[in-house]
Amino acid sequence: MGDRIKPVISDQELFHVHTFRCRHAEEVPDRAYVEKALELGAKGIWFTDHCPFPGDLFKREHRMLYKELPEYINTLKGLKEEYSGRIDIHIGLETEFFQRYNEMGYYEELRGNKDIEILLLGQHMAELPDGRYSYDLDKESLIEQEFKLLGAEMILGIQSGYFDAVAHPDRIFRRRPVWDAEMNDMAISIINSAQVASIPLEQNESSKAVKNYYREEFWELAKGKTDIICGLDAHFIRELKLVKNSI
Ligand SMILES: [Zn+2]
Ligand SMILES: [Zn+2]
Repeated sequence: MGDRIKPVISDQELFHVHTFRCRHAEEVPDRAYVEKALELGAKGIWFTDHCPFPGDLFKREHRMLYKELPEYINTLKGLKEEYSGRIDIHIGLETEFFQRYNEMGYYEELRGNKDIEILLLGQHMAELPDGRYSYDLDKESLIEQEFKLLGAEMILGIQSGYFDAVAHPDRIFRRRPVWDAEMNDMAISIINSAQVASIPLEQNESSKAVKNYYREEFWELAKGKTDIICGLDAHFIRELKLVKNSI
């Protein structure tokens, strides 16, 4: 944290791009994204593949293995050098916040890696008190509790100071078609935390394509309170495009 430079992401850059390593993205080399970005006239591209965790707990979520992390970083470092002067290639990770890994010092370790330019907080699941994860809950419990569990952990992540931006904060409400007072309260808590920590919230282009993943109600509350960035969450070359921030 301390001496770390705050990443600045411009409208001319492609933000939030995954790679084949996560096992649910297009099977193409990283270079293919860079070439497409050049074709689009982008000035930069921010790779933020799903962060692995020691022990590789999340096999069913599909992501790179912990032992693959050095290769991911080294490959992008090589491309960064090769394309220098033509396009800025940035190296980052999209990472959940889990108390257990925080206590183990994992976020400290990631932040200590000077090759990682951005840690994007992407809370896709939450830890449960019994050591399981939220996706182990039954469907009814998920409808009732998922946004509270993920929201609470997201806020802890924001407050931890380890993260530079929050990916798709509104996606935690995906299982609830009707916006209610509890969701509104959670949205306000998230927005307030981001405002205090002065980190931007991401409007996610991929969320816009899925029903109830992108919530206008959330962004109405965020207006004027936090910086907003646009993220592609691209898992396929065809998803790369230059987008303008809407707020
Ligand atoms: Zn993904
Ligand atoms: Zn993502």
